[in-house]
Amino acid sequence: MKIQKNINLAPYTTFRIGGMAKEFAIVKSVEELAEALQYAKGNNLKYYILGGGSNVLFDDRGFDGLVIRIESASYIKIEGEKLECWAGESLASVLNLARDNDLSGLENLAGIPGTIGGAVRGNAGAFGTAMANLVSKVKFLDAASGKIKEIGKDDCGFSYRNSIFKENPDLIIISVVLGLRTGKKEEIEKAMRETIRKRNEKQPQGWFGCAGSFFENPVVEKKELIERFERDTGAKSRENKIPAGWLIRETGLSGKKIGGVELNEKHSNFIINNGEGTAEEVIMLSSIIKQKVRTELGVQLREEVQYVGY
Ligand SMILES: Cc1cc2nc3c(=O)[nH]c(=O)nc-3n(C[C@H](O)[C@H](O)[C@H](O)COP(=O)(O)OP(=O)(O)OC[C@H]3O[C@@H](n4cnc5c(N)ncnc54)[C@H](O)[C@@H]3O)c2cc1C
Repeated sequence: MKIQKNINLAPYTTFRIGGMAKEFAIVKSVEELAEALQYAKGNNLKYYILGGGSNVLFDDRGFDGLVIRIESASYIKIEGEKLECWAGESLASVLNLARDNDLSGLENLAGIPGTIGGAVRGNAGAFGTAMANLVSKVKFLDAASGKIKEIGKDDCGFSYRNSIFKENPDLIIISVVLGLRTGKKEEIEKAMRETIRKRNEKQPQGWFGCAGSFFENPVVEKKELIERFERDTGAKSRENKIPAGWLIRETGLSGKKIGGVELNEKHSNFIINNGEGTAEEVIMLSSIIKQKVRTELGVQLREEVQYVGY
């Protein structure tokens, strides 16, 4: 494990935004992770765990501590209907290997960037499937005690875009076991393609210059708003949730620009950096969105994207 100094964080995020990390380490094993944490402790540095960087917004002033990036170690093992992998493996590589081994279950998640560790921590999901439906066991390193523990799915505290790992950033996921089902490679491939097609219909193309959905889909109290959404889209609200993108569109903010960032016309929950954008501009735009949705529709939006270094 090598410690690097003054590393530009922007290229390590899909937003392509962020200042410098004071110190930076890439880790590909539990030993390297433990070593990096020990280094941070020994040097009185705060640390931040980074996976694929597809759900974070680093401050323009950067991070005054050690950023530990968990990268692929090419460790994905399949035994029957169980798939075990290192936290730094990309979700895409896990999906592809599952398909190649006739294992079904992950198809609805095709097209979500980032690592499996990041996906489990945020209970990432799409089209009615979330990591909570697939996880069987999670191994993590507790940075506070230095101990490694393994827990079953029921102890992960999964709920909508949440888990105990999100609640407690000292719990660093190191490996995950998924429970899948036997399927047919061709059908799995077809379902994955269909997921990508549906995504492309709704979302801007490409991973770069954004962090996916900026806000979580809120639970809405007002019945008339849910009815308006259902009438307008023909879709059913699940558990009284309404897509944040639809709410934002209702305020007429789609396409709004501040400096180098813009609220996407096609998907109004995507804030896009056109290449020159800054974190400050993203935060200004997100504040305007939150305020307008609150005053006009009476709904409080919460960021899904993690702000780091503020
Ligand atoms: C174009 C696009 C589309 C997207 N579509 C979806 C979607 O459909 N559904 C969805 O849920 N998300 C979506 N996302 C958001 C994002 O891809 C997911 O949240 C993803 O799971 C984040 O993984 P990551 O490795 O990139 O995490 P990062 O962005 O690196 O980190 C996110 C958070 O997880 C923490 N973290 C990362 N790794 C670990 C670990 N090993 N242990 C503990 N904590 C960790 C970090 O500290 C950080 O707080 C999309 C993003 C983009 C850019």
